[in-house]
Amino acid sequence: MVIQFKFLIDAMLGRLARFLRIFGYDTVYANDLEKEFDIYSISDDKLIEYAKKTNRILITKDLPLYKRFNEQSFFLEGKDVYGYLRQLKSKFNITFKIDIGKAHCSRCNARLKKILDKNLIKDQLKDDTFKYYNNFYQCLNSNCKKIFWNGSHIKNIEKKLNEI
Ligand SMILES: [Zn+2]
Repeated sequence: MVIQFKFLIDAMLGRLARFLRIFGYDTVYANDLEKEFDIYSISDDKLIEYAKKTNRILITKDLPLYKRFNEQSFFLEGKDVYGYLRQLKSKFNITFKIDIGKAHCSRCNARLKKILDKNLIKDQLKDDTFKYYNNFYQCLNSNCKKIFWNGSHIKNIEKKLNEI
């Protein structure tokens, strides 16, 4: 069985969080916890507590935070999201395969469901998207409901990832 890691991504790394969700990893972004706990700024203590409670690996660029919690965190170097992905790949053997049906919502981390009849979401799509694509998925979170499909944006990501 493949070990499926769960992640907690520190502030300022939102783009990395969105990537990991699309790859199918259950990924909580620190900034979203501010909303959940209704606090202005999430403290290191709170991050560590949450990571322990939910059994997540904390991914951070904050060296003191990493040192405090190095048994369950990973320190990223550099600045570029593709560089971060490379580091995560070598540490956790992250797979970069994009299978929209198994992805988590890039915006809120909820699971997606397949849309069985695209006519039901026609008014939420651009005409060309509706015309040229047939397989759509939608976020199950009723406050989000973001729609996903295997469009050119996904192809571009895959192309870049193949270069890693
Ligand atoms: Zn969502």
